Amino acid sequence: MRITHIGSVLLKPTGWVLVKVKTDEGITGIGEAYHGAGVHQIAVDERLTRPLIGQDPRNVDKLFRDMMSSMSASGFYQGAVMSAISGIESALWDITGQAAGVPIWQLLGGKFRDKIRIYNDCHAGETETPEAYAAKAREVEARGFTAIKFDIDPLPSRRDRYNRCISNDDIAHYVEVVTAIRESLDSNTDLAIDAHWFYAPVDILKIAHAFEDLNLLWLEDPIPPENIAAMEGVTKSTRTPICTGENFYTRFGFRDLIETQAADIISPDMAKAGGLLEGRRIADLADMYYIPIAPHNIGSPVQTVANCHVMAAVPNFLVLEFHHLDDPFWEGIINEGTLIQEGHIDVPNLPGLGVTLNEDLLKNNFREEFGFFD
Ligand code: MG
Repeated sequence: MRITHIGSVLLKPTGWVLVKVKTDEGITGIGEAYHGAGVHQIAVDERLTRPLIGQDPRNVDKLFRDMMSSMSASGFYQGAVMSAISGIESALWDITGQAAGVPIWQLLGGKFRDKIRIYNDCHAGETETPEAYAAKAREVEARGFTAIKFDIDPLPSRRDRYNRCISNDDIAHYVEVVTAIRESLDSNTDLAIDAHWFYAPVDILKIAHAFEDLNLLWLEDPIPPENIAAMEGVTKSTRTPICTGENFYTRFGFRDLIETQAADIISPDMAKAGGLLEGRRIADLADMYYIPIAPHNIGSPVQTVANCHVMAAVPNFLVLEFHHLDDPFWEGIINEGTLIQEGHIDVPNLPGLGVTLNEDLLKNNFREEFGFFD
């Protein structure tokens, strides 16, 4: 079997980037690359695709390394380049699974579980009041989710956008909000909070300390992602579990974070961190330190299902992110119907990825100036 063609499409209004890899035996693989400026163009750039055309798509790891080598002049291990590589790598696994007649999780070592637990990312309530947040949390819990996340981004009252500080009033507000959410939920429903890298260690620790008796699932991205020593300082200074990882690339990018145990839980995004096998490697590295993995995922059903295959195949899976509750476009882009039921996704047993694209819907929702993948 040989690769004959690689195509990409940029969907609107979501910005999702889907990748198609075609072969001379009629098998086509689909994958998703993390959306971002230029990713859809890099995925079909001849400098990236040249080493793939004519090759056997089932030599996935070799082709992953060939893609990195071919893009070394463009920054081979990070950013939009690695996002594009991740989408293609994922499509290669879809082809390999279809050709072998087995699901991707089988190729990654077999499965530990039949269902993948999903957490719903909630974007505030109708207003910023503690009651509105709590009402939203109860509404999502009532739909079967056993894990829920909210954000604590800077309020409009913030005094300075650049110094990463948070006022005492804003700290008090968020402590009140998160306490109200926590108290409104069943004690066995998990609650995570995302701080989106906005704060300085000295300030986010005031919040983390105030959260300590709320038994959160985690506090995510408390400080900017670049400084592992600063992250380690935060993580080791509070009983609130700390989660980070969505802006790290490849196992090499995760190495220092994991080896210094600078996070209690890691959240790689496999659509940018290197794809599915790299996701398995990152999970295994974390498992050596008994660190759970809770993948970041803001993608379409293609990326969400790809996550499910990898997370079925690793022991230390905790929970998977989801952002599109009640979004008919999210549901509609695959032909297989409703994915999430009672807060879980059934791990597919069909060959390859196990889902197919609703091309009619896609053809009405893509950025025409960049073309449609055929
Ligand atoms: Mg996040």
